[in-house]
Amino acid sequence: MQTYQHYIGGQWHAPTGGGYIESRNPWDGRPWAQIARGSARDAEMAVEAADAAFRDPAWAGLTPTQRGKLLGRVADLIESNARRLAELETRDNGKLFAEMHAQARYIPEWFRYFGGLADKIQGAVIPLDKPGYFNFTRREPLGVIVAITPWNSPLLLLTWKLAPLLAAGNTVVIKPSEHTSASTLEFARLFGEAGFPPGVVNVVTGFGAEVGQPLVTHPKVSKIAFTGSDANGRLIYQSAAASLKKVSLELGGKSPNIVFDDADIEQAIHGVLSGIFAASGQTCIAGSRLLVQRSIYRTFLDRLVERAATAKLGDPMHPETQIGPVTTEAQLAKVLEYIEIGKAEGAVPLCGGVRASGGGIDSGWFVEPTIFGDVNNRMRIAQEEIFGPVLCAIPFDTEEDAIRLSNDSVYGLGAGVWTRSIERALRMSQAIQSGTVWVNTYRAVSFMSPFGGYKQSGIGRESGMEAIDAYLQTKSVWIAAGAKVDNPFVIR
Ligand code: NAD
Repeated sequence: MQTYQHYIGGQWHAPTGGGYIESRNPWDGRPWAQIARGSARDAEMAVEAADAAFRDPAWAGLTPTQRGKLLGRVADLIESNARRLAELETRDNGKLFAEMHAQARYIPEWFRYFGGLADKIQGAVIPLDKPGYFNFTRREPLGVIVAITPWNSPLLLLTWKLAPLLAAGNTVVIKPSEHTSASTLEFARLFGEAGFPPGVVNVVTGFGAEVGQPLVTHPKVSKIAFTGSDANGRLIYQSAAASLKKVSLELGGKSPNIVFDDADIEQAIHGVLSGIFAASGQTCIAGSRLLVQRSIYRTFLDRLVERAATAKLGDPMHPETQIGPVTTEAQLAKVLEYIEIGKAEGAVPLCGGVRASGGGIDSGWFVEPTIFGDVNNRMRIAQEEIFGPVLCAIPFDTEEDAIRLSNDSVYGLGAGVWTRSIERALRMSQAIQSGTVWVNTYRAVSFMSPFGGYKQSGIGRESGMEAIDAYLQTKSVWIAAGAKVDNPFVIR
């Protein structure tokens, strides 16, 4: 069994408490690695290393162009290690190797994009209303950032934070999910290899309450960049408030996928299926509420159920597998519990609705792809994030109904609209309260396009040019150019 230590100041460190956490493979339920169980003392060591590195000329003295080149170098290393990193992720979270590999090959683009931005961070000369002064602004890094990530796409979601924060000149302590830390530790090693000075990128592993919380409250940390559940996001927001840290939150969703009767039905079926069953529904942007116009509701659902029944469940490493296990035993129990809640609320599973078994998958944590028909949007299964392969189908009559139902949610992360009408697509994309709207497609993301949540789906945006602003602060510098201090008791 592989053993992983913390990565602090460019070195591997055994946990000061001596404990380890087993990492289990969701495909067969067996432990395959153990990771350091971090404590407040480990958190302290990591923050001190990041704080020292932030002020060390080896990092602080680099020109922005040199920083950008380091990001380019790490991009190349990630590219050549993509297969190995993706294998680790699949072993840890059970998502299809094909998806993890595609992500690992795409990740370098974030480092190249933000590496390119590093030397385009510019202040301004302000044309002041006061003669006799010269005023300009500087855009400066914040300091030590704590990046906390979930288990569903560990490296991609980390990259959305890491690439802009490093391009801006900050240093970081990463706390990956206790279920999926291995790939992040191997990833951190590549930053050392690329030539990042020790202490710029640090990783401590373990449970949120034990090592995450001390990071969130540490006085030398400037900002928390968190991706995870809204319950923990809320807790972290509250804890960070005590020392007024900056916080960005990428949280959950209950995204509507809306099919109008003028849609390309075959395409819509594909989009709806991939929206909910890709990654076994374990994506923040899962299209977990299906709104279908009543005139096509029955036929659309029949075809959808027929297609869902053909999905191949199996070993996530196998290229023909279409649906893998869910990531943890606890998640399996949670998804099955929600299915029971749905049944108790009166929703009827048109397919699935049970733990999947047979065909050699019994030791893994599998759920049958499940579609509930005739769901009422007020039911718990339509309001709460399940984070599993469970789709709630809801009929609607008019465009206004579709908008009302879509927005009747505390979340606002993503939405899909399937229609051939450009006017309707534009009206819907304006009316829907969510950070992303996809028209006739679903789940597309890019390093160039901002991503984030409306309402309780989060605070802040990742990717795209504005993402770098979240890791910078502006300083205004005043220089007297002829102005004199005449009356010391009057503000100028
Ligand atoms: P989670 O909230 O359980 O854990 C996320 C991370 O927070 C883990 O590293 C965990 O150890 C840490 N943590 C927990 N409590 C903490 C505390 N008190 N202090 C500091 N750290 C703490 O989330 P999860 O179950 O790993 O991930 C699934 C959730 O993430 C879903 O809700 C999903 O929607 C969300 N998510 C959002 C996005 C997005 O971009 N909006 C992307 C992926 C996942």
